[in-house]
Formats: sequence, structure tokens, C-alpha cells
Amino acid sequence: MTLYAGTIVDTPGDPFTGDPGDALAEVGALLVREGVIRARGSFAALRAEHPDEPVTRLDGGLLVPGFVDTHVHFPQIRAIGGLGMPLLDWLERCALPEESKLADRAYAREVAGEFFDGLIASGTTSALVFGSHFVPAMNELFAAADHRGLNITSGLVLSDRILRPDLLNSPETALTDSADLILRWHDRGRLRYAVTPRFSLSASDEMLDVCAQLLGKGVWFTSHINENVAEIAQVAGLFPGARHYLDTYLRHGLVTERSVLAHNVHPDDAELAVLAERGASVSHCPTSNCALGSGLFPLRRHIEHGVRVALGSDVGAGAGLFLPKEALQAYFIQQLLGPDGLPLTPAHLLYLMTRGGARALGLDDRIGDFAVGKDFDAVWLRPAAGSTLAVNLKHACDTTDALARIFALATPADVAGVWIRGVSDQAPR
Ligand SMILES: [Zn+2]
Repeated sequence: MTLYAGTIVDTPGDPFTGDPGDALAEVGALLVREGVIRARGSFAALRAEHPDEPVTRLDGGLLVPGFVDTHVHFPQIRAIGGLGMPLLDWLERCALPEESKLADRAYAREVAGEFFDGLIASGTTSALVFGSHFVPAMNELFAAADHRGLNITSGLVLSDRILRPDLLNSPETALTDSADLILRWHDRGRLRYAVTPRFSLSASDEMLDVCAQLLGKGVWFTSHINENVAEIAQVAGLFPGARHYLDTYLRHGLVTERSVLAHNVHPDDAELAVLAERGASVSHCPTSNCALGSGLFPLRRHIEHGVRVALGSDVGAGAGLFLPKEALQAYFIQQLLGPDGLPLTPAHLLYLMTRGGARALGLDDRIGDFAVGKDFDAVWLRPAAGSTLAVNLKHACDTTDALARIFALATPADVAGVWIRGVSDQAPR
């Protein structure tokens, strides 16, 4: 067992349904055995009960739960920074040419390594990962995630129209290839499978029927929705009988509590009502929405309808893997919305990138906060001495204030340690 001592902060409450001040909790120590949290409390109390256990001191900064990224594209790790284009141009010019390269298995293996190294260095220990269009690349991704012990849900990306030809698969091969991957990887260690049509723009009704068949295997579902007005207009043209974008998934039975849909920047009220009723989640990707000019996310309408929301980096359209940056951008967007925005406190931001993500992924019985019985996935944010963040933490008046300064200033350089189910991936400096 190990006793971790420091300023340990999590959000056992839900700041969106209760008082944000009550959502945040702070303790001085956690007792961890075999990767699982066995006790939490003051250092003095836990030390008195367990005087012989080794102590790891995390002096300075904050220890928070490992981050949960609910929307990130692994084949785009080498394609970040393509600014100045709306969604459909960006896909054609930046993202899809890079995604084609993952047909080469050795290339995909390198990319998977770079992707997970980047996630861990950014403090992300769990993710719903948008996969590749190629089966060998998916095998490389799952093997790399398994090796690192990360909590990863992912799946083969399915498309049978509109995209460049080398990225298309037929509904028949989509069914057999996905079924094989599910058999091999779903529920193996911390891995799970997600059926992943790219978006209904590039997936016919036949392909979406295949997705429904695969969901019968108890796996997850993810895709994109309502990201960009030109995309939404094209989808409406392709599905003349659909009431709205969500209906293109709904009428195939693809909207359930195991569904996570990315973006939803332009939903109508009927879609929000269905998402809430079905218990589906939305992944909000703030820097991507800003970089592509997609729009300002209507968080208040989601929350008022009772839709579950979490954060996604949406790399490569997003501006990096570091979720505190996404949280800060989410805060900015709500400020810019004026009276239509939902003012976010540091408790909201921490919740969105930890416990909110765990709930969206149905993993909140295992991760997302430091409750006794949960896995010890943790990030130690401690800036280098003399940095502007270190100066600000020194002058923070309480933990909420310290968190606000972290959201304003932290970068991956401030990640001083990451624990994945109790195993330290990066030696504390
Ligand atoms: Zn995306």
C-alpha cells in the first residue's frame, strides 16, 4: 500500500445540478493498494491508522483525478493546427489525407505510440477515441492502449459514401471486420469497443443498420452531430425523411445511454429532448469549435434539457490534447454567449473533464473522482518553481482559487506526475 499526501481535489458532487461550491472536495491523503483507493481523509488520520505504509509526498500544486477525453481522433495526432478552414474543407485538406496513411500498419503503430504518449503527458488516463478506417490500425491502437493500462473505448470508423475512396468500406465488410474487433478487444482489461460511423453524412442507411446490429453486442456508440451549418444542410438533403440530424441515428436505434455524440453546436429543442430522454451524452469540443468556426456551444440549453455533457479535445481539429485548455475555452465560450451562456466555476470545469467524462462513458463506478473503491488514476499538477503559475498558486486564497489559476495558466509542462491504476507513468520531478 502507499499513502499519497498532498492537496487532493475532486468533484464527488455534480455542480450542474447542485451548488457548485458543494461539488468540490479536498482531502490531504489517499491510501492506495493494488491500484485501488482504499481510504481517503486527513494525512494525520490515515497515517495514524497505517503507520507502516510508505508515504509519497506530493508537495505543492494539486492532485486531481486523471482526465477523461470523450472525443479525440487518434489518426490525427500529426495533423493539428490546420487553421482557417470550416469543417468540410478541413476534413478534405487536412484530416482525411493523413487518415489515409494509416492503411500502412507500421505507420499506424508509430502514430498510436505518439498518440498515447501525448495523452499521458497531458494527464489523460481515459478516453473515447475516434479510431481509424483500417482494421490493422485498430489492432495497433488497442494493443498500445492495453500495454499502457489506459482506459480506452474505441472502434473502427465506418463510412460508405462521400469520403475519398480509400477510406470507404461496404456495410458487409464493416459488419464482419467490426464483429472480429469486438470479439478480440471489447472488455479486455480496461478496453471497450465503440461502433463508430464517421457521421451520417458519410454513412448510408444500410451502414447505419449494420451499426445497429453491432450495438446488439453490448458495445458503445459514438459519432458526430450538428457541428457545422453546411454539414447539417447536406445531411438534411441526404435523409429527406429525417426530422432532424439526430433522427438519422435515432431511427436506427443508435441513440441510447451508451451513445456519445460529438459537438451538437446547433441542436433544436426536439433533439435535446430526445438526447435527454434516451440518456445519451454530448461531447463538447471547445477549441475545435472555435478553430473551425463551427459556433458557440449552447451549454445552458443542454443542461436545462437534462442532457449529459462532457469535454473532448477533438484533436486534430482541436488545439491539443490538454483538457484544462479545453475547459478554459469552454468557460470563454459561455462568457461570450452573454445571457445565453452558462457561467462556469472552477468546480464545473474540473467536473467536466473528470467525473462528467466518466459518467458520459458509463465508467463513474470505476473512475472520475477519488472515492474509496475507485481506480487510482491521477494527475499531479505542480508548476516549476518561479513560473507564473507557481507565483499564482502561492497567492491563491483557497483551493477553488488555486484551481481557477490552474485553468488559466497550466500547460502539459505542469504535469509533474501521472498514475494509471496506481502505476506511475512519469516519475515525479
Ligand atoms: Zn471529431
